[in-house]
Amino acid sequence: MIYKRSSELFAEAEKVIPGGVNSPVRAFKAVGGTPIFVKSAKGAYLYDEDGNRLIDYINSWGPMILGHAYEPVVEAVIAKAKLGTSFGMPTELETQIAALAVSMVPNIDKIRFVNSGTEACMSAVRLARGFTKRDKIIKFAGCYHGHSDSFLIQAGSGAVTFGTPNSPGVTAGTAKDTLLAKYNDLENVATLIEANKNEIAAIIVEPVAGNMGCIPPVKGFLEGLRELCTANGILLIFDEVMTGFRLARGGVQELFNINADIVCFGKVIGGGLPVGAFAARAEIMNYLAPLGPVYQAGTLSGNPLAMAAGLAMLQALDTDRAIFKRLEEKTAYLGAGIERVLKANNVVFTINQIGSMISVHFDANPVTDFQSAAKGDNETFKKFFHGLLAEGVYIAPSAYETWFITDALTYEDLDFTIQAIDKVSKTF
Ligand SMILES: *Cc1c(COP(=O)(O)O)cnc(C)c1O
Repeated sequence: MIYKRSSELFAEAEKVIPGGVNSPVRAFKAVGGTPIFVKSAKGAYLYDEDGNRLIDYINSWGPMILGHAYEPVVEAVIAKAKLGTSFGMPTELETQIAALAVSMVPNIDKIRFVNSGTEACMSAVRLARGFTKRDKIIKFAGCYHGHSDSFLIQAGSGAVTFGTPNSPGVTAGTAKDTLLAKYNDLENVATLIEANKNEIAAIIVEPVAGNMGCIPPVKGFLEGLRELCTANGILLIFDEVMTGFRLARGGVQELFNINADIVCFGKVIGGGLPVGAFAARAEIMNYLAPLGPVYQAGTLSGNPLAMAAGLAMLQALDTDRAIFKRLEEKTAYLGAGIERVLKANNVVFTINQIGSMISVHFDANPVTDFQSAAKGDNETFKKFFHGLLAEGVYIAPSAYETWFITDALTYEDLDFTIQAIDKVSKTF
């Protein structure tokens, strides 16, 4: 495939946009080469500026669960746009999508809409701090909750540590309130709680991790977090920005029958427009302004185009109750196919899959946390990525990303992908 036009466009972009992109992973730094510029997309396919067609396994990093340019979403946005694109005043539409979301997700009474997953997680933590009157939070290494300061933290030195900033611009003062734990390691969490008695406001977790590849929780991990939180007056925040409305109608809370105290959403809930949300029981949500003392606001929050897209998306997922099963079956089929051809070609690998999330790690050991995810062979991943791209299959340009399966993918697409992987893995 030829990427002449994409290369030219990237060179132009680099002059006026830092690194040529508006979000770093798009720049192909982890795999080398120049990013592909998209012209359009429909269903399971991307069409780039050079006229190539690619089977898309990123799907805007998750939102396009029903495929690109899904008609009911597109129609809803067009219809709303003609009636005005932003008011900064209440609309009936906001109540409609809120009511539908509350009816689909277990254990929430009220939901507030924001503009991104980052904003949702940032606001959820503020709410938890205000509600508990405590300052510290626990997050897990390798979990991503957006780019707000409290989350850009890495492990400091020492055993029971304070976090240290992992980006310039994050102050040491902010970092000291974020404690870092090991994913899937309850004992580690218990130790942190013990060392910070009555100081921890919240534990925030991706209940199925998707930002260090796909890592499902080991048996008992989420249950254990729930117990530790309840016993210590800590709020449990499920960051379901990736998993919400994807792994089940009601997300991971429904899938594993575990209640969180605050749930964060993004990605699918906006149907491809910029939307995030956070939700909880009334007692907690009523702590937010204007009812309560915790401030949170947004000029474009609840924007009519975004709400129309999100509502059309949720309605589709609410109506077609077979969808999550169908997605799971397609993903398992893909996983089994990948496993077959990689084994046949003597490649060392581990596949993690749950529902419509799947990732291939080039390492033989089980991948259960950030440390084990980081052991993957990145040189093999680079060959894998560029090999697949040459075959017209687009996966995320980083070994730490999950693939998102959409309902628009046909079994022919999946077979084509498995054959492409067979071909590419012969060249490792
Ligand atoms: C994508 C993501 C976010 C951040 O959402 P943005 O809309 O990119 O700000 C937060 N948490 C998780 C789990 C995510 O996958």
